[in-house]
Amino acid sequence: MSDVLISRRALLRRGTGTAAGTALGGLAALGSDLRPARAQAQDLRIREAQAFPSVCPYCAVGCDTIVHAIDGKIVNIEGDVRSPINGGNLCPKGAAIYQLHVNPNRSLEVLHRAPGATAWTVMPLEEAMDRVAQLVKETRDETFKGTAADGKILNHTLGIFSLGGATMDNEWNHLHQKLMRGLGVVAIENQARI
Ligand code: SF4
Repeated sequence: MSDVLISRRALLRRGTGTAAGTALGGLAALGSDLRPARAQAQDLRIREAQAFPSVCPYCAVGCDTIVHAIDGKIVNIEGDVRSPINGGNLCPKGAAIYQLHVNPNRSLEVLHRAPGATAWTVMPLEEAMDRVAQLVKETRDETFKGTAADGKILNHTLGIFSLGGATMDNEWNHLHQKLMRGLGVVAIENQARI
């Protein structure tokens, strides 16, 4: 069968992985080596960019990355080949870090659903922060224990639980720990770990 006459179904069958079903996947399946074209496209995309070393924010492996930016805007994030940790590789989650920054689905507003309500409403950030602070203060005041019944010093509250997210970086977590422990919170967790 010639390459011209190959059916679409056969083309898809011969494609592999995520490349299957795309024009590039089809070309790759037909034996074309696309690596030079991909490398050139990548090179063009970052030719004018500044490169900043960084670290993947997602988990405790701490893979190194390079962030490329043009005029202060991120245009690409990839694994740092110089890294002794990941040698330029990123897992699927890390490979999608760019979408943390550039993503039309990312919400840029605070959404609030009042108790009993069925719809979300936009809440100004200042108002949301004040409300969180108010609730934390009230809860801590109500639940803080200085000493146990036997006189043992506790200085803690079991009324607040802190759950961090993977996109919080080291600096944020450092400050967050200080704040939570200062309040007497002992239930502190973060899912950014292996
Ligand atoms: S999430 Fe993936 S890329 Fe990021 S640090 Fe962990 S293993 Fe590395």
